[in-house]
Amino acid sequence: RKITIAIDGYSSTGKSTLAKQLARALGYAYVDTGAMYRAVTLFAIRNGFIGNGTERLQALVQLLPKIRLKFVPNAELGFSEMYLNGENVEEEIRQMEVSNQVSRIAEIEQVRYKLVDMQKAMGKNKGIVMDGRDIGTTVFPDAELKIFMTASLQARATRRYKELLDKGENVVYDEVLENVQKRDHIDTHREFSPLKKAEDAIVFDNSDMGLKEQFERLESIARR
Ligand code: C5P
Repeated sequence: RKITIAIDGYSSTGKSTLAKQLARALGYAYVDTGAMYRAVTLFAIRNGFIGNGTERLQALVQLLPKIRLKFVPNAELGFSEMYLNGENVEEEIRQMEVSNQVSRIAEIEQVRYKLVDMQKAMGKNKGIVMDGRDIGTTVFPDAELKIFMTASLQARATRRYKELLDKGENVVYDEVLENVQKRDHIDTHREFSPLKKAEDAIVFDNSDMGLKEQFERLESIARR
C-alpha cells in the first residue's frame, strides 16, 4: 500500500537529502517544494520585482500565470531538476541571492495559492514524499506519515555553510547563520500557512544524529 509522506521543518535540517533517500528506497516520487518557491523568487529577482528598494510585489502577482514551473527528471543525477519557463535553473535557485529573498516571496498569499494547488495535484497519486514547510498542515493534511525536522541553529548553519562552500560559493559563516535565522523567523511568523508542526507529526531532531541513523529510523517507520 503506497502512502503520502510529508516532511516539514526548519531551513537546512537536511530535509531534502533525507526525503530524497527515502523516496528512492520506497520507489516513490519526490517533490522539493522549496525549489518551487525559489524559482518564483528567481523570476522576481530577474525581472526587477525585488531588491534595489523597488518593491513591486503586486506586479509580480499579476505575472504569476506567466510563471511556468516544471520538475524534469535527470536520470544521470537520479533526481529532478527545476525548470523555470523552459530553462534549467536548478543551480541558480540555490544561490545566496535567492536564499536571501525567498521567504519574502513565500509570504505572498497568491504565490502560496498557486504553488499549493500545483503540489496538491502532484500528490493525486499516492507514493510520494514531499518536503517543505506546510506540507503536513496545508498541502496534505491527510498524509499517512508526517515528519517534522528540527536541529539547533548552529548545526543547521554549519551544514548550510559547508554545502555552499562545496559548491564554490564565496560565503561568510555569519551571513549564512543570519540567513537561516531570518528565514526561520519569517517562515514561522507569516500570515498564510506558517511553518509549524502538524499535530500528528513525528518530531525528528537531528542536531546529533547522523544521516544514516535518521534514514534507517525513518525508513522503518515508513514501511510499518
Ligand atoms: O526548503 P528550502 O530551504 O529550499 O525553501 C526555501 C524557502 O521557501 C523557505 O525558507 C520558505 O520560505 C519557502 N518555503 C515555503 N513553503 C514550502 C517550502 C518552502 O514557504 N512548502
